[in-house]
Order: sequence, then structure tokens, then C-alpha cells
Amino acid sequence: MSRFLIPGLSALEPYTPGEQPRDRRYIKLNTNESPFPPSQGVIDAVNGQAGLLQLYSDPDSTELTRRLAETYGVEPRQIIATNGSDEVLNFAFLAFADAAHPLAFADITYGFYPVFAALNRIPYRTVPLKEDFSIDPGDYIGTGETVVIANPNAPTGLCLPVSDIERIVASNPDRVVIVDEAYVDFGAESAVRLVDRYDNLLVTGTFSKSRSMAGARLGFGIGSPALIADLHTVRCSTNPYNVNRMTAAAGVAALEDAGYFRRNCRIIEQNRGELTRELRALGFAVPDSKANFVFARTGRIGGRQLYLELKKRGILVRHFEKERIRDYNRITIGTAEQMQTLVRTIKQILEEQA
Ligand code: PMP
Repeated sequence: MSRFLIPGLSALEPYTPGEQPRDRRYIKLNTNESPFPPSQGVIDAVNGQAGLLQLYSDPDSTELTRRLAETYGVEPRQIIATNGSDEVLNFAFLAFADAAHPLAFADITYGFYPVFAALNRIPYRTVPLKEDFSIDPGDYIGTGETVVIANPNAPTGLCLPVSDIERIVASNPDRVVIVDEAYVDFGAESAVRLVDRYDNLLVTGTFSKSRSMAGARLGFGIGSPALIADLHTVRCSTNPYNVNRMTAAAGVAALEDAGYFRRNCRIIEQNRGELTRELRALGFAVPDSKANFVFARTGRIGGRQLYLELKKRGILVRHFEKERIRDYNRITIGTAEQMQTLVRTIKQILEEQA
């Protein structure tokens, strides 16, 4: 830390992304990326922009916004495109929360929420998940807080029905409710259909997982036109060219390749079902995930130890050294072959332990 950093930021603990080691080739099941490359259309679209990089990108992401609006059945003025969904979350925290409008989110959820809150100096309340890691919607009903819910939640993979989301949104009409749908495409139900009815609902999404574009950094927010206008104000006061040319073109192409996207999502769901069955057969507790990962623990080996043993054998999973969940690992769903290697390796580790 330099002697110039302002006191307000001196205690800021940045978000720790999943490790990206370069020492060897790993089967990477630690950051919820897609195991599938982007579609050929996306690759061609990126290449098509390379010779135009001397020009700024379109600050309104007009074409991408239009295609997103078509895809989600809303108007373009109900959409903001951002540099990953992390950016729209940060914009929303900045725009809709402060000391007088504190935040509420789960104790076990996406680790960036407390970091954005601290960065923007927003007080927050963490709401304990139930014993089984599910969210009790009652904890958020009529509390008058700015609510953030990852649905499906990470790292648990559990999701709330949209009827429960609606109750929370309807009960807090004077505060924004942010529903982070980073993982919604793997079998959960989206709250986007509620945005026309509730002007306090912001739904966020990403191309990082289901559309195989984590490296391109593309996310979006969907809400009422007024709410989205506020987010554009923050965006244009931060970085008007927040979506670069290659990524905007890639996003349009990804939306055009709807068949490729749907096929990949279904494969992930199948592989998730298979992995869940195999892990349960080995004695693991695995909550029913609707995301592209599962959350698993076993009494046969500690969470951290299993993570380390897998890493030694070339498989990366995500372990959180955090109360309530240190017995668990979050395992991204990969290809069927990767999942078979994972299960085989876990069996070996468990046998060696015995
Ligand atoms: N929300 C949740 C719950 C996540 O797990 C992630 C991925 N780390 C994000 C949002 C942000 O993803 P991205 O910025 O890549 O869209």
C-alpha cells in the first residue's frame, strides 16, 4: 500500500478470482467457464472487427442492445450492455445503494457483492442461508433494503422460484431488487418476465458461462427504462466505451447462434445430472444444482484436502476457506470426458485415504 491511498480504501479486500495457474495443463473446473469454445460465428465476428480497432466502439452498443432486447422480449431502452456482469452489478450498487439505502444479501453467495459494497462504501447486512443452503424469501420481504440475490445462487447452485422473487420485489417497492442471473440458462427460471410489472427490479445476465465468452467480458442488465437510464448515466460517467468492438460483435453473433447455445446448455445439464448421481453414489452430499457447477462435500475427506489432492493430479476445483462451507468444493461442469476423469480421480483419492 502506498502512503497516498485514502483511508476509506485502506481496508478494502479485493475479490479473489479463481486461480489461473500456468505451470501445467489442468482440467479447469474452478471458475465456471464453459468447456466449449465460442461458436464459429462468434470467432468470425471477432476477426471481422480486428481491422477496425483504430475506431472507438459504439458507446450505445446499438446493434447488440437491439438483439438482446429481441432475445429477451423487452425494448432496447430496457437493456444496458456492460463489460461482464460484474460491471452492471457495480454500476447498480453505485446507483441504487448508499448509507441511507443499505444492501442485503446472503452470507453464502457471490464473493464480489461485499467487495463492491466496500468499494462504494455501502453498508450491508448478510442474511444467513438456511441450514440446507436455501434462501428463505421471508428474510427479504418488506425490509426496505436494496436486495441482491444470485438466482441460481453461487456457490450452492440452488435457486428460488420466480414466484418467491416476485414476492420480494413486490414487498420492497421503494428499493431496487437486483437478481443476478449469471447461471440462469442451465435450467432455472428467469425473472425477466417481471420487469414490465415492477419498476424496482433489475435482472443481470452474462455471456461468460452459457455463451462461452468469459474472456470477452460481456454482461447486461434488464429493467424498467428509468432504472436502465440511471445505469447509463453511471456508465457514461465511468467508461462510455465499456463494451469493446470485438466483444459487441461477438455478442451479436452469439445471440444469432441460439441453437449452439441451447445444445451446449443441455449437454451441461446432462453432465451435471450424471456427476451429481456419481458423487452421491460415492457418499457426497450434493445440493440439487441448476447452475453449471455442483457444490459437494463428503465426510470421507476434508474440502481443502480434496481440493489439494485433485490439484496435484491436474484437476482444479474451487475451495472457499470460509465458515459454513469449508467442507465443500464447487466443481464446474465440463465435458463428459472431463467429468469421467474427475470421478475416476476422486475414487482413487478416496481409496488412498482409506
Ligand atoms: N454473478 C455471479 C453469481 C458469478 O458467479 C459471476 C462470475 N464470477 C458473475 C456474476 C460475474 O461474471 P461476469 O463478470 O463474467 O459476467
